[in-house]
Parts: sequence; structure tokens; C-alpha cells
Amino acid sequence: MQKQQPLTDFSEITPSAAIRTETHGWRAKCLQRLIRLDLPVPRTVALPSSTVRAIAAGTPVHCEAILAHFGEGPLISVRPSPVNPDWGGPATVLNIGLNHARHARLVETQGQAAADELFLRFVQGYAVHVARLDPDMFEGLDAGPGALREALRAYRDEMDEDFPEDPARQLAEVLRSMARAWEGTTARLLRQAKGAPEDAALGLVVQQMAQGIGQGISGSGVVQFIDPVTGQPQVTGRYLGQSQGRDALKRTEAMYLTRDPRGPSLEDIAPDLFAELLRHGRACRDRLREEMQIEFTIEDGRLSVLDAVKVARSSRATLRVAVALADDGIIDRNEAVLRVEPRALSELLHPQVDPRGPRDVFVRGIAASPGAATGRIVFSSQAAQASASRGEPCILVRRETTPEDIRGMHSAVGVLTERGGMTSHAAVIGRGLGLPCIVGCSDLRLDPRDKTLRVPDGRIFREGDTITVDGTSGEALVGAADMLPPALDATFHKLLGWADAVRDIGIRANADTPADAKTARDFSAQGIGLCRTEHMFFDSDRLIVMREMIFADTPADRAAALTRLLPMQRADFVQLFDIMQGLPVCIRLFDPPLHEFLPHSREGLRELAEALDRPLSEVTRRAEALAEFNPMLGMRGVRLGVVLPEIYDMQAQAIFEATVEIGRRADPVVPEIMIPLVSARREVELVKTRIESVAATVRTKTGRDFDYRLGVMVETPRAALRAGEIAQHASFLSFGTNDLTQMTYGLSRDDAGRFMNTYVQRGVFPEDPFHTLDVDGVGELLLIGADRGRQTRDDLTLSICGEHGGNPESIAFCRRAGFDYVSCSPYRVPLARLAAAHLALLDPIRKH
Ligand code: PEP
Ligand code: MG
Repeated sequence: MQKQQPLTDFSEITPSAAIRTETHGWRAKCLQRLIRLDLPVPRTVALPSSTVRAIAAGTPVHCEAILAHFGEGPLISVRPSPVNPDWGGPATVLNIGLNHARHARLVETQGQAAADELFLRFVQGYAVHVARLDPDMFEGLDAGPGALREALRAYRDEMDEDFPEDPARQLAEVLRSMARAWEGTTARLLRQAKGAPEDAALGLVVQQMAQGIGQGISGSGVVQFIDPVTGQPQVTGRYLGQSQGRDALKRTEAMYLTRDPRGPSLEDIAPDLFAELLRHGRACRDRLREEMQIEFTIEDGRLSVLDAVKVARSSRATLRVAVALADDGIIDRNEAVLRVEPRALSELLHPQVDPRGPRDVFVRGIAASPGAATGRIVFSSQAAQASASRGEPCILVRRETTPEDIRGMHSAVGVLTERGGMTSHAAVIGRGLGLPCIVGCSDLRLDPRDKTLRVPDGRIFREGDTITVDGTSGEALVGAADMLPPALDATFHKLLGWADAVRDIGIRANADTPADAKTARDFSAQGIGLCRTEHMFFDSDRLIVMREMIFADTPADRAAALTRLLPMQRADFVQLFDIMQGLPVCIRLFDPPLHEFLPHSREGLRELAEALDRPLSEVTRRAEALAEFNPMLGMRGVRLGVVLPEIYDMQAQAIFEATVEIGRRADPVVPEIMIPLVSARREVELVKTRIESVAATVRTKTGRDFDYRLGVMVETPRAALRAGEIAQHASFLSFGTNDLTQMTYGLSRDDAGRFMNTYVQRGVFPEDPFHTLDVDGVGELLLIGADRGRQTRDDLTLSICGEHGGNPESIAFCRRAGFDYVSCSPYRVPLARLAAAHLALLDPIRKH
């Protein structure tokens, strides 16, 4: 057996003691700050993490020195003090030191009932948290005479020994159990999910107790000065007479703090103490520069502040508090910007179910992550990834999720699980991703093999059925619910305005439709970085003309169909230019293979034959002739532009005519035209020559001059390698990292989901490269392309417009590489603006 070591490595927390967050944890440091503010904090000592680690490793300690420090009289408590408050920690243990002798003395000073109650609580707390006995054994014991005796008997029966009387042993056991609990697997996983490093350390604080159970005005409570959901200033909290710890938060008979028509309040019964609390709250806000929740105890009319923690709050409240503190001059604007995690913004951005719409609720569970989303049911992560790659929003329905589901969760728009609670994997990860999530729907009967979901009223749902997850209310609804746009208020825009003032990389949006463009503007995108024009051809009235164009027998027929598409395209661009009000709009010329516009079913082909007035056999033959073995590597992008140049001619004409039309009534726009899937300089030359000639024709026809910029989308490795010569004909390069990733890895965007999980699990790829930019491989191509391009033209504009464009890590990469802007989906624009500001503030050196 290891020899017991005297525990001497502790420090009393005084204003000048050497207490450091890294060694003693945030709570110890925070208590020191409260002490420096002259708040009435009882005597407290801090144990460094090195000591706690040794205890967890099995070093037995004896605690006489600590006890001697507190003297004979008081009981003590032990609280966890990790480096970061978000990392949790073992439960606080109160009333250490109570034994029969102390109990007898308490009976004299506090009366029998109070003494019994305190001792009973200690026995219960110790039994459950230290001896790890089943809490059920002590249930129902919290009232009446005899409860204490029974608790002590239950302890003896279960442990085969009497309840420990020696305070030093009690304390040693408490320290040991807390140190061990910190090292437990569940605790580790939970804190790592919140970003704690693997070797995160724990400090402990041992504090003299102020007794909220006793004579005169005695009790305990918790107060904070904001509403934790909205972040609006408001005194909230509870006070309960004859209580301790956080009792007041758990019991219905607790009273309000401020005067309240519903019953007595602390302000009524002890106005001076209430006023003192308010003063302490103000001091904390002003000097700790944070909204704190204060835990207090009143012992016979004397107020003690035991602890203060940052108020746990919603993302909305985090933002409001940061802005309010900056508005009040307590922190500066840059700090306010840094206090809001970019990823947290997604919670404010997500649509909510419109309460005025119909609600067909099929199951209720725990509202684990806010926001609402509609999608088709999938029962596995693979199916979720496949669905996402088809561009179909899906809801991942699982019994529970595990770390292997992470990629499936990334691919889903919402998550629903049968099991789990607020801290289950699905809930923690869902909140982290800003993904609407409901967990613990225990009324569901899920059969993953059968791919069915049976709900309490007997209805059965199958894979592919559409449902809506309302992660704000915890209700799952049948079908696609009416949605409300996200609640974005002036505070949100103010903070992002401050972010814009410091960021040094541009943020544009990928927007294909007028609705996307409006969202992009509402989120202050600095332009459109990618407008995928083919999306404009899928409307039913256009699709038929598009198909006529595809089936044209001669260039003249093709031109005729394109002439009908021209005014529609022109109107699209006029609308986009109008909405973007002079901001740059980068229009990508037609990209996908033509067969994407053809029907795939026999029925569809028949309808097409009818519409085109051609025999079905001919339509079928020609549709088959357009099929390709590898359409992603076939006749698409600029290859279409070279082989069937009339399509790009029409698009260029539409763009220029829209430019002229806007120029007649508003400030001139300078459209940006982008050529997709380039791999050779000659492709650019050919397209450029034709576009120049279209521009000349439009200028002559309209009698008006205009400017435009022509650029290249770098999506093939060869385009990156040959960027030097390509840049001779391009005024900008935009890296399409979706295709570039696909081609660099030789990995199909649409099929990778099948084995991506295995690949990541086995460590072949650290992450799914379609989700997180592969900075080593694809990133190197970006650097090569950027460098060679800029050697040709130092005014070359560089950007990224693949899905990676909105990830903070990709933004960091592009910024370091001297890119001018990133372009991402409209809803990611706020996140990107804030992430870019964080980068500028934390790493002020930028290449360009
Ligand atoms: C890309 O390839 O990165 C890109 C933005 O284009 P798309 O996703 O339309 O292929
Ligand atoms: Mg592409």
C-alpha cells in the first residue's frame, strides 16, 4: 500500500495569492477576483491540478493541514475548478466535517431540526457522490424525524462500516472521488465534445461554509442580472429560506428575488440584503466584465457570496451581452466580436416553425438543439450522406447517435433520436453544429432494418417520407411545416458591423436565385461570388425550351431555342443586378452535362416526345446517346462552351443586355463572367474571343458602353498547375474546391459517402475532404494556382467558392494565402464574416 502523503500543496485564496487559471482552474481564479472586489467570500483554499492528478492516480493523502487551516468550527465544501467552466466537473460536496460530535454542537446552536437536516444532507451527498451508492436508497428521506437515523443505517448496511466520523478522512475521500470522477470516460467524452484537450486538468477549491440552515434570516439563493434566453437585463433567480447550495433552484416553494405579485420576495423580507446583492452584481459586471450568476447564502442576516459563474446562456443572449458590455464601455468592440463564437450564430439564423401554421405533431421529445428543418427521413448516416450529395435535405432518424454518425449528422438538416437526453451525443453535437435536433422520443418504435418508424398514434413512416424537426419545441411534425425566417435583430447586425470593421478578407455569397440574392444582401455579403446559372433552367417553362435546345438538329434550331431562353436569362440577371445594387455579381456560365435536363423515366420520355412532337423511339435514342459513363468528367463546363458555343453566346448576350438595362436606370454594374471546369489556356481563349464579339455586338446594337470582367473557375488540378498561362486571359481565378477535391483525390462527390465513414474511422483521411478543406493536398494546389496566377498578374483577384468557403478553417487558409474573398452559401455569410474578424484580430499579419 502506498504511504499516505500529507496534503500541503494548497493556497489560501487572497487578493495577492499566486492563483492561476492554468494551474488552479477558472473557479479558483474567479473567487480570487471576487475577493479582490471585496465581496464577502468565505475563506477558501485552492488545490492545484498537479495535486488532484496525483490523488486521481492513487496517491493517498491526509488532510489535517487543510482542516487546521479552517480551524475547528466551520463545515466545508469542495467544488470543481477546471481550466474552462464549460468543461463541467464532478458535483460539489457540501457540509464536509459533519459527524455526531458536530451534530450535537449544532443541535445546541441551531436547533434539532436544522442540525438533523444538515447531517442528513451530508450523509446523502457523501453516500451518492463519494461512496457511489444508489440515490434511490435515500429517496423520500428528506423530511421528518428518524430520517437521519435511517440514512446512517442504510449507509452502514450497504458499506459494511459506519459512516466515517473523522473529518480528515471525509475530506480525503471527497477529494479522491472528485479527482477520479474527472478521469472517468463519460466525463472525458463530454468535456472533449466541448473542446477540452485530452489532458484537461482539474483544480479543486475547498471553502468554509456559510450556513443557510439555522437561525434568523437564513437561506440561500442564486441571482443573475440577465434573462439567459434573450440576454435582456432582468434580475432573475430564486431564494429559499433554510436552504443551502442550489436548493432554491430546485424547489417550487422558493421565492422570487424582486417584488412580485405572485408571493413574497427577498426584496420584501430583506431589502438591505437585496440591495447589497444588486451592488455585488454590478461590481461583477463592471469589473469581471461579464454577466455572472452569483450563488449566495444568508446566515442569520449576513450575506456571503460563495461562488460566481458565467451565466449559462443561449447564443442570442451571448451576442446581446457582448454588445451591451461594449455599448456600456466595459469591453471594447473587438472583444465583443471575439466573445461570440462564429458557429454559435447558426442558432440565430435557423428558420423556426411558424406557430400560426398547422401542426400535425407525431411525436414529442427533448428539444435538444434549436431551429427547425424539413427533410426526408433517412435511417443511416450513409443514407444521409447519399441524400446530401443528391442535394436532398434529409432528417437523420436514429435510436441514438454515436461518434461514427458525425458525418451523417453533417449531411442531415435535422436529427431525431429515440433515446438520449440533453447531453447525449446527438444533442451535444447537434447544438455544436447548429443542427435542429430532438432526442429522447421514447414513444417511437424504430426498426432500422425494416426502415420504418411507428409513432404513438399508430402511423408508420418510411425512408423518404417528409417530416419537420422542430428542435426549439421538441416536436416532430408530419410533412413540411410553414417556416418563419430566422430572428435577426439590430444587435446581431451591430456586432457583425463591428466584425466587418476589422476583417481583412471579403465575404461573398453563392446565390443562384433572387431569393438567395436577397438573403445574401440581408446578411451584408459583399457580392455574389458564384451564381450557378443552370439552376435557372429547371423551372418548368424553361425546361421545355432547354430540352428543345438539346434536341435541336441544326445550329439554326438550337439558336431558335436559345433565342427563346435569352429574355428569360436577361430578366434573371436584371433581377440579380437590381437586388445586389451595384455589388459585384459573378455569373458562372452553364456547367452541367446536358443529360441532367432530360427525363429519366419512360413516362417522362413519353411526355417529352409529346411536347417535342417527335417519336418516342427517337427521343429515347437521343437521350441514351447523351448518357456518359462518367458525366462529371465528360462534356460539361467549358467543354460545352467549346463544342456548343451558342449556349455561352446566349448567356453572355443576356448578361450584357441586362448590364445595359440596369445602366439606363441605376449605377452601372460590372458583371463578372466565370468559365467553369477549365483545364487548358486554349479553352479560355476560345470562349473569351466569342464573348468579346458578343460584347461588341451588344455595344453596337444598344449604343451603350459597359465593362465586364472575365475569369476562370479553377476546378481541375491542371488549371491550378497552369494558372500562370490561364491568368493571361483571366482577371480573376475562383477555386471551385468541390470539383477540385473530387479531381485531386479521384473521388466521386456523389459516391464517396459509401466509404467515407470507414476511411475516416481507419484514419485514411483525417476528415471528409468534401467537408473540411484538405489543406495538404487540395490546399497545395490552391497555393500553386494562386502563386502562378499572381506571377502573371499581380492584380489577379483570387477567391474560393466551393462549399468549403464558409468554414472558419478554410477562411483562415485562404486569408493566409492572400485571397481576396471567400464565397459561401448565404446562410453561412454571417458566420464567415465573424470568423474572418476573429482571424484578423487573433492573427493580424496577412500576406496581401
Ligand atoms: C465547385 O466545384 O467547387 C463548385 C463551386 O461548383 P459546383 O459545386 O457547382 O460543381
Ligand atoms: Mg464545380
